[in-house]
Amino acid sequence: MSHHSFQTRLLHNDHKFDPDTGAVSIPVQQASTFHQQDFDHPGAYDYSRSGNPTREALEQTIAELENGTDGYAFASGMAAISTAFMLLSQGDHVVISKDVYGGTFRMIHDVLVRFGIDHTFVDMTDLHDVATSIQPNTKVVYIETPSNPLLNITDIRAVTKLAKANGCLTFVDNTFMTPVLQRPLDLGADLVLHSATKFIAGHSDVVAGLAATNHPEIAERLGFLQNSFGSILGPHDCWLVLRGLKTLHCRITQSSQSALKIASFLQSHPVVEDVYYPGFSSHPGSSTHKYQADGPGAVLSFRLKDEEAVRQFTKQVEIPVFAVSLGAVESILSYPARMSHASMPKQERIDRGITDGLLRLSVGLENPDDLIKDFKQALSHLKQQRLFLNGRMRSEVK
Ligand SMILES: *Cc1c(COP(=O)(O)O)cnc(C)c1O
Repeated sequence: MSHHSFQTRLLHNDHKFDPDTGAVSIPVQQASTFHQQDFDHPGAYDYSRSGNPTREALEQTIAELENGTDGYAFASGMAAISTAFMLLSQGDHVVISKDVYGGTFRMIHDVLVRFGIDHTFVDMTDLHDVATSIQPNTKVVYIETPSNPLLNITDIRAVTKLAKANGCLTFVDNTFMTPVLQRPLDLGADLVLHSATKFIAGHSDVVAGLAATNHPEIAERLGFLQNSFGSILGPHDCWLVLRGLKTLHCRITQSSQSALKIASFLQSHPVVEDVYYPGFSSHPGSSTHKYQADGPGAVLSFRLKDEEAVRQFTKQVEIPVFAVSLGAVESILSYPARMSHASMPKQERIDRGITDGLLRLSVGLENPDDLIKDFKQALSHLKQQRLFLNGRMRSEVK
């Protein structure tokens, strides 16, 4: 069915119905173990850590959507990423984006070093920085694009080329884009990783991770690690992710259109100091992003004056939930300085542009005009607050 467009393949793929019953929803196979008719002829499944039909349906689906050969489903995005790092051995080295997801930063920085796996954090948008950081023992270059929360763009094809020339593998965290908008294996990457908790499942009701590859050796070794380490996704959660995938194209298309509208509104507002969105032609990575992805996505960040402005704004704004996470049907507003990046030392955080005035917005499926109206009232209050303070200060001076 691969001649169909991506949008159609989300629905009409090898798992459009259950071959045994015709059920138009993949059955949740809850069994932990499978009866073997004859020990000389083991069945397709023996134990659910090693293989489960519901999980297999999801794994084959993500492999197909990423144009890979093999897929894997894990208990979380971090379980997928951490298991992928177990492809490395003592003495190996990783080159990784300095603005990588916080959990990945922690895994590299606080866990892998204990196993003798070293790293260098680089500015992935600077190919010279990447090239000079590759050492003789570098085995993996790890990319996240667009990055979180400042939406920096890495040239996937250029970095994978550089990695290959130095005998390194390239891993790409594709959570922000999903295979609807970006397919890193087509650009030369060896392994794609996802927090399926976000856009892929999309409903703020499951924590899940996925991996896909087209590299036969990685496929075999990652399957072995998935079974050895055992951080697999349970059958019911696999079913929730499969259900979420069916609407992925439609969700991400609408949310991206709304994000562009909202980003433009924010950029024109006098109280907003900066807006970060790869859909703007003024974004420094916009041409690279346009070349490698089919759309700007549904996540943007914007900067208010300071913590007090953020406090006022978040108190007044009504529609988005105020929470960590992203990629859901409801818009999610988050405050990196106090949420995702709270554990980072303040100076390091500010050096990375994550100041006390920065907010991240993941745009959901609400009517964008309602969101704009809501932001407008919240921002105008903030302005009035400032005028009011000025007024009071003036009257105090008098
Ligand atoms: C959330 C997230 C992760 C971690 O995924 P979990 O499902 O929370 O374990 C990894 N990478 C990115 C870019 C994320 O947003």
